[in-house]
Amino acid sequence: MAILIYAESSEGKYKKVAFELASYAKKIATSLGTTVTALTINANSTSELADYGVDKVLKVTDDSLLKFSAKAYADVIKQAAKKESSLIIVLSSTTDSLYLAPLVSTYLNAGFTSNVVELPSSFSPFQVKRTAFSNKAFNLTEISTEIKVLAIAKNSFGLIETKSNLTEEVFSPTLTDADFAVKVESIEKVSGKVTIADAEIVVSAGRGLKGPENWGMIEELASVLGAATACSKPVSDIGWRPHSEHVGQTGKPVAANLYIAIGISGAIQHIAGINSSKVKVVINTDADAPFFKVADYGVVGDAFDVVPKLIEKLKAFKAANA
Ligand code: FAD
Repeated sequence: MAILIYAESSEGKYKKVAFELASYAKKIATSLGTTVTALTINANSTSELADYGVDKVLKVTDDSLLKFSAKAYADVIKQAAKKESSLIIVLSSTTDSLYLAPLVSTYLNAGFTSNVVELPSSFSPFQVKRTAFSNKAFNLTEISTEIKVLAIAKNSFGLIETKSNLTEEVFSPTLTDADFAVKVESIEKVSGKVTIADAEIVVSAGRGLKGPENWGMIEELASVLGAATACSKPVSDIGWRPHSEHVGQTGKPVAANLYIAIGISGAIQHIAGINSSKVKVVINTDADAPFFKVADYGVVGDAFDVVPKLIEKLKAFKAANA
């Protein structure tokens, strides 16, 4: 009956979402008088999970799972859920987990809710709050199946430290050729840069920057902050920046702690992709730009004036606090 989480890792290191899921699952487990089991796949260590309330780790180490394979990973989660007799399986909203969640639900004949932003408001009936319509609204979803799969929206719950006496068990799921019917042949990674998906801070710029030659200051600001760079759709459409940086409804979603939007008007399609970010800072010459309506902090000013000054101040602050 343990609550099962899939503690995602990359190259052996846990992603922050693993600890968010553990924090979330621990709260549910406490309410239901049960425990939290974390499934790990090729993760280097398990001890960090004990800081966020995980009671047991099912540790899978398998070379055939070194590259992400949705079918195989979903099968492993299914087998872990059966082993633990889990009725609640908690996944994150990373690209990988959003592939996995519907597969896991199908394998387990479970009800599935994505974009969950709060703890269940009731266990009987089982109801959770989720976002809808590109984060413009909330709805309360009821899951009536015995087994429930939840995908938690990034940054919606936060980290809660709870020490636990973690036990570890080696878990060797049975995998067949069918699990690897679709194979990842190669992975191309942007090297030396923070990726948008993993970034705590994102510096994003739009058509207000006038041309690709002006991105030096955006990259410098990102580098000072340890941030990823992003852009609006037209900017990647024109070819000023790579498509991998395009954020918004038709691009990548961003759920960063800090999103800095420079020379971006704030069209609804752009906001749809970034409004799970916690703090939004907008720099724009037009005081009536729609982006200011969703901004936590705004600077009405010319990016070519404001950004270099911001970089200078941040460098001075870092030097003084080194
Ligand atoms: P603009 O709208 O041209 O805005 C530029 C901004 O820069 C203005 O607000 C201006 O005041 C400001 N500015 C100008 N000069 C300066 C300066 N020197 N300093 C500071 N500020 C300055 N867009 C996305 O971004 N992501 C999506 O996923 C997306 N999906 C879409 C899907 C559909 C179906 C459609 C129809 C559109 C989509 N769009 C998307 C496009 C979207 O509607 C907007 O056209 C786009 O976001 C505008 O990009 P922008 O803000 O960079 O440019």
